[in-house]
Order: sequence, then C-alpha cells, then structure tokens
Amino acid sequence: MENIGEYQLDIVHGFPEGISKIEPQSIRSIFPNPTLITIPGQSPETVFVSTLLHGNETTSFYVMQLLEQKIRQVTPKRSLALFIGNVFATEKGVRFLPNEPDFNRIWNEGDTPAHHLAKKVTSWAESHSVTYNIDIHNNTGINPLYGCICKLEKPFIDLAGHFSDTMVLFENPNSVQSIVFSKFCTSVTIECGQVGNQDGIRSAFEFVWDILNDVPQSTLRDPINHTTKEPRIFHTIGRVMVKEGIDFSFIPNEAPITFIHDVVRYNFFPLDRGTPIALMKTNESPLYVIDEFNNDITEQFLEVRDHQLCLKRSIVPAMFTDNPSIIRGDCFGYFMEPYHF
Ligand SMILES: [Zn+2]
Repeated sequence: MENIGEYQLDIVHGFPEGISKIEPQSIRSIFPNPTLITIPGQSPETVFVSTLLHGNETTSFYVMQLLEQKIRQVTPKRSLALFIGNVFATEKGVRFLPNEPDFNRIWNEGDTPAHHLAKKVTSWAESHSVTYNIDIHNNTGINPLYGCICKLEKPFIDLAGHFSDTMVLFENPNSVQSIVFSKFCTSVTIECGQVGNQDGIRSAFEFVWDILNDVPQSTLRDPINHTTKEPRIFHTIGRVMVKEGIDFSFIPNEAPITFIHDVVRYNFFPLDRGTPIALMKTNESPLYVIDEFNNDITEQFLEVRDHQLCLKRSIVPAMFTDNPSIIRGDCFGYFMEPYHF
C-alpha cells in the first residue's frame, strides 16, 4: 500500500469550480489533499466547519456542496473556514484507510503525519478569529439528529440547541476535533443520522447557514435557568466494546453470540434493568464497558443470566450499530444517562 508520509494541507481562497458536479468518491479530482477553504464574510469573525473527517460519512460533503451554491449567490455575515479532511478515505468510501489513523482521533498531541496535519489546521484556526466550530458526522444506527458538546456552558448548549434539542455531553476521547477546538471557541459535533438521510443534510446545511449569518440561537433559550423548554441532555457513562476474537451475529444461530437486533432501534430510548442484549452459547460476556479513563466498568452494567447477557441497571443506549466493521473497529455503542440540571 502507498505510504503517504507527511500530508500536504492545501489552503484555497474561495470555492474552486466544479464542486457541484462531483460525487464524494471523485473528491480528489478537485481536492487531491486535505484542504482548508476560506471564504470571507461581511465580518472577519469565522465559523469553522469540519467535513469528511470520516470518509464514508457523506452528509458533510453534501452540506459543502449546498454551501458552495448558496455562497455563490449570497455573502454570509461571518467568514467561513471549511476543512475537508480525509479525502483519501472519501475516495475509497471508507471511514479511514487501513494504513492511516482515524482522522477524528488525531487532534491532541501526537507525532504521526496525521497529527501533524491536525496541528497545522488547529494552529490556523487559533490564529484566525474562529468563534464557532461545527464538525459534521453521520452514524450507522438509528438515532435522532443530535449535537455533542463537551462543556455544559450556555454558549455550547445554545449552539447545539439550534441544531437539535437532543444533545450528548462527552469529554472523551479527548483526541476528537470538536473537543480540541472547544479550548478556543464554541464547538459542537453534529450527528446527522445515517448516510443519505435527507433531513440530516438539510438540517445540517440550515444550521451552518444560520450560524454563518448570526441568526439568534433561540430554539432553546437559557435552559440552565429553566425559563423555557429544556433540552434533552444525555451524559455518556460507558463505551461498549466487543471483546477481541468474539464471533457474533445479529441473526439467531449463526454464531455463538447473537446480539438482540432491536438494540439498534432503541438508541436514545431508556432501557430497563434486566433487558437482554445478547443470547449466548457460553456464559462469558462478549462485551465489556469502559469509562472515559479506560477503566473496565462492565460489572456495573452487564450480567450473564441463563445464557443471556442482560442490563444490570437502567441506561439510555446511543449510537448502537449492527455494522460489524464499526463494532470491531470502533465500538458497539454507548451507555448514557439523562443529565439533570
Ligand atoms: Zn464520524
């Protein structure tokens, strides 16, 4: 496989021609390298939009196309800096290439070529009046549109609340783009449903356009003081991983472990203590749960009873997926609980 070495970061001023004519997999015909596009608005205050950190999460690609069309007609109030991340993975239609790190795990300290690229992009943002950061993603399970924030502060809640009243507070992994950017601006990761979800594309575009135009973030006003509708804020309490080498399926009797398929339909709905997660031929849990410090906290959440893996306490699942490569490459999903002010 081609050894990439250091990544080149292209910085271009204005959208290049031809963007509206390409599909995600031909992105390198216009953007051969990771690219930062800068668009001056009426003020230098800048909204940073991060796209395609995961190559197969194409909502952000279509948002970029919609922004290009719109900005050819109207100059937004704020300036735009749009980062196009993993063009190599986008070309291949995958989250990231096998010889590369995940581009949303490279934003803290590190010494790989991908970390050097992220450092350049971060340094650019820190020195260019970036006040808002929006990182656009998809997920694979059935989830509502929601925003992820890492600070329970009013500007963060207001920003995320303008996208959706459902939000997740997360503090790890601390190598993700929106956590690192939260150190110098108001930052959100928006999860726009599954790839191809048209509501997700339209909502994400309208959200970015509103923030570019300083539209008041009034969907949820001052939720901390309970003056109006409260946001639904969830807090991640555990990351659910499949043990290495485990043979599993979602179809009964195909493998020693059968995960209950419905679990992917329960994302963001509370599940009671005792709810089964898997049927098993052995009595050893195929899953383990880790906290944000990588401590094993499985004992608090899961128990094996009569060849069933069951919840030991009530939780709210999120981002549970039935895609085996994501389950093995990243995680099965997250356990959350509602955050109460
Ligand atoms: Zn993603």
